[in-house]
Amino acid sequence: MNDYQIILLALDLSHDDEQVISKARRIADQYGSRIFIIHVLDNIPMPDTAYGTEIPLHEGLNDELLNVKKTRLSQIGEGLGLDSSQVRMVWGLPHQEIIRMAEDESTDLIIVGSHGRHGLALLLGSTASGVLHHSPCDVLAVRLR
Ligand code: AMP
Repeated sequence: MNDYQIILLALDLSHDDEQVISKARRIADQYGSRIFIIHVLDNIPMPDTAYGTEIPLHEGLNDELLNVKKTRLSQIGEGLGLDSSQVRMVWGLPHQEIIRMAEDESTDLIIVGSHGRHGLALLLGSTASGVLHHSPCDVLAVRLR
């Protein structure tokens, strides 16, 4: 079966990512998929930068936290055997940028983590539900433990 040829994996660069990554790896092995990964920067001041702007992973930017994140994302990409075109870091709203990339890359499946929020916490909005409601393709929400 080759249903899921292109998979987009959304990573928040927390410890929870391991669960999402290992699920993506198993699905990619099963379907022979090409994987893309994305991290969206949503909590750092961005003086001269428009939302949705892509961050080059190999250019020096003098922000310590940004560099830590870039390094971490690159390491994850290397661990998955991806080349730099399959690894993306952008400024913006996570669910919006995840959807944008899924559309740009004609993704067949988006994989996100889900904390299983409910009630008021869910009303505040989770990335998983934002992605689910606007996705152009199937979405797998991996229940985080
Ligand atoms: P949250 O809704 O913030 O609890 O996050 C649930 C899942 O959404 C995470 O496991 C990631 O898959 C994805 N996600 C959250 N924040 C980001 C982010 N800044 N960039 C990329 N993916 C994210």
